[in-house]
Amino acid sequence: MSDDRTSSRLVGLRDYPKLAEQDQTVVWHPYTQMQEYAETEPIIIDRGEGPYLYDVRRRRFLDAYGSMWCNVWGHNHPELVKAIQQQAGQLCHASLFSVSHVPAIDFANMLVDAIKQDFRFADEAPSLSHVFYSDNGSTAVEVAMKMALQYQNQIGKISRTQFLTFHSGYHGDTFGAMSASNIDVFTQKFSPSLFKCHRATYPMQVDPDEHESTRHHEMQLEALIAGRNDKIAAVVIEPVVQGASGMRPLAEDYLGKIKKYCREYDILLITDEVFAGFCRTGPLIASSAELVEPDIICLGKGITGGTMPMGVTVANDRVFDAFKGVWKDFRQFLHGHTYSGNPLACAVAIRNLEMIYEEKLKENVKSRSRELNYALKRVIGSHPRVGQIRVRGLAVGIPLLDESGSEDGGYESRADANKVCLHAVEKSRVLLRPLGNVITIVPPLNIESEQIEEIVNAIAKALEVLDTPGE
Ligand code: PMP
Repeated sequence: MSDDRTSSRLVGLRDYPKLAEQDQTVVWHPYTQMQEYAETEPIIIDRGEGPYLYDVRRRRFLDAYGSMWCNVWGHNHPELVKAIQQQAGQLCHASLFSVSHVPAIDFANMLVDAIKQDFRFADEAPSLSHVFYSDNGSTAVEVAMKMALQYQNQIGKISRTQFLTFHSGYHGDTFGAMSASNIDVFTQKFSPSLFKCHRATYPMQVDPDEHESTRHHEMQLEALIAGRNDKIAAVVIEPVVQGASGMRPLAEDYLGKIKKYCREYDILLITDEVFAGFCRTGPLIASSAELVEPDIICLGKGITGGTMPMGVTVANDRVFDAFKGVWKDFRQFLHGHTYSGNPLACAVAIRNLEMIYEEKLKENVKSRSRELNYALKRVIGSHPRVGQIRVRGLAVGIPLLDESGSEDGGYESRADANKVCLHAVEKSRVLLRPLGNVITIVPPLNIESEQIEEIVNAIAKALEVLDTPGE
């Protein structure tokens, strides 16, 4: 690396153009058209404090997309920083391949207890008590899918090699996770290399008080499973809400129906709670909202409070027991990553989980969610270009309608939502991201009323950039 480049971290304010140019050429940003990015003035973040991020040009931005949906306590919360610093002074990394360490053991224990707590009103105590560590949400899902396949193989159901997933689902960017996903623009170019999954409808329920029958979806689901139950290893679903396809809430009680068929046909249920879990939609374990106990849970994003990369996959006894044997049988789970269960990530995950209870985070999510829902409906709900606003916990989707008043579901048609988000960033310094033509709000979970007002006002102002019918 040239001296020039190493020193750029220190240049900051004095040499923004140079830093920007380097960013646009040497850093390849995810899901970003780099040719267009090269024409922009990139926001280069220098530090974070609470819900705000500050860039090298000394501008303050409200992080209303929670740094890609993972932020829990705002930025650089002193308690989380302390947990990382203390752990760094003792042990930065030791691999779980041959040894173990205290933070990995402690966090796994705490998580298993927390799962039990969330399911305390269920008929039976959950047996989800085996924690497998990885590095991110996609690997948490990849691990779950491999676990399900190896499980079926080892219990002698060798024809069970397929998955049932849902329309518009998103599970990550690795190959198994992409195969399970169903947002065409993300996966189309890789489709010849992906494996086929069965797809069922994900019935949406925007208004929690509106109950439409899901009977026909249920019949379709059963027909899909019943004809193929000797082939399907597991069902993979985002419980409560599909995030990446534009915050699409799942019909109430539907997860329970899926579980019923899984049990009836002896298929594993995998809940991908990478987004919906860790209090984003309310409870720590999203599927516990309806007391539906999956066989395998995938967690990520907020698990470290939004500070360090970590994914975990939690399996129940039934799955775990199928991997027992002696070495030469090769029944051990054939998966692992160098940084699985990294001590720094585990240490901060412990503090995050403690704080979730100490600070009554779930209650904050509940009240702020109500507040945000009410404020959005009051301030922008009747805007002619705004469709039915979707809110689950602190995951919000605001679909924009085209000029004829219909919601264009296409992911490619993001022009208007993009315009609105750019306006909010540039004029109000509120960081927002569009998903297709849906504006999304995914703030830190400890957000306060003042910032909710800031976000709603920024969107209301930004909506003025859209043409409205009759203008
Ligand atoms: N599953 C779901 C439901 C997600 O929303 C995401 C990320 N948005 C992932 C998996 C993948 O997580 P990561 O980006 O950490 O790989």
